Amino acid sequence: MKITGVKVYRVAPKSNYVKVETDEGICGWGEPVVEGRSRATAVAVKELGEQLIGMDPENIEDLFNVMYRGNFYQGGPVLCSAISGIEQALWDIKGKKYGVPVYQLIGGAAKEKQKVYAWIHGETPEELAADALNRLSEGYHYGKMCICNEMEWICNSARIDKAIAMFATVKEAVGDRMEIGIDFHGRVHKTVALTLMKKLEEFNPLFIEEPLLPFNEDDLVELKRHTHLPIATGERLFTRWDFKRLLKTGAVDIIQPDLSHAGGIWEVRKIAAMAECFDVTVAPHCPLGALAFSSCIHLDVATPNSFIQEQIVGVHNAVNGGGLEIEDRIETDDSQGYVSCDTYIKNEKGLFEFEDGYVKLPKNPGLGPIIDEERLAAANNGDLPLWQQPLYRMDDGTATQW
Ligand SMILES: [Mg+2]
Repeated sequence: MKITGVKVYRVAPKSNYVKVETDEGICGWGEPVVEGRSRATAVAVKELGEQLIGMDPENIEDLFNVMYRGNFYQGGPVLCSAISGIEQALWDIKGKKYGVPVYQLIGGAAKEKQKVYAWIHGETPEELAADALNRLSEGYHYGKMCICNEMEWICNSARIDKAIAMFATVKEAVGDRMEIGIDFHGRVHKTVALTLMKKLEEFNPLFIEEPLLPFNEDDLVELKRHTHLPIATGERLFTRWDFKRLLKTGAVDIIQPDLSHAGGIWEVRKIAAMAECFDVTVAPHCPLGALAFSSCIHLDVATPNSFIQEQIVGVHNAVNGGGLEIEDRIETDDSQGYVSCDTYIKNEKGLFEFEDGYVKLPKNPGLGPIIDEERLAAANNGDLPLWQQPLYRMDDGTATQW
């Protein structure tokens, strides 16, 4: 089999789809995107794709090497996300060729089903508590929420108290029926992170995600020395080599590689194996669409140390007929409103089988989603701007972490 073409589609609100075509008529799809940088990633996909024309799509290890090691400049979000989406498409091709789900090609099922968690949204403690109860009623037993918005380097006690109250109110509402992680989103600095974590200890959050920006590894080690709360991080790290540095610090309990950023399915399987040797679990990051989520599920079910899977696919809709919903808006264009990722999927019904907070083993060959290319082509944004991340500023106007 030979690769004959690599196409990219950019669609609102912030998705890229890559199609890898072959001379045998089998094509594979993947989701290569950096949130807010879909245009740059699409160009990288085209450039990397040109290198693969004429090569055998089944040699996934070799093609990763061609795209990664075969280029002098390596790593980082744009290049690694481009590689990731192409790599997902290669697994999709291979699964379709042999008529098996991708997890069967990477070791088979290491478990019967995959635990997932949902985002809990809200601006106030009451809104957050109400949303957590909604999630509970939808069958989730695990969730994640943010409590830190624009936090100063040294934060006043009112903001600290408000953040703690958010989590305390949610925990009081759900009790022990739901375990909830907290994402600091890299928005706080080490002194505030430590203060927050010490105050949160009594509420036993499931984990603290990105308590610091991922590059402050020494400070992460210091944090870990002062708290028993599990530390999660890794959505902004790429390939084995970034994770090697992180794991060697001993400061992390849960790594969160993103299968559309870190290098793809097989790269994250290698990262997970390395994490297992450090007695660290894996919870893949996934705020993207059905192809990215599907890639994660195949990886999860074939990986004994994968703990839990993030997802933004609407479990409620899926249970009631398979609808999927991306919970992101384009702020600049209200007419587009909420965009369903099933817009471009022909087999959304029953694609992911949710039950009691778990996703069952995938059944379809390849990654699973069957893409409606006609609709995708009609929606293709070409080189036009798409979603940009919000710009956060502190009270004095300083630009800060989203
Ligand atoms: Mg995060």
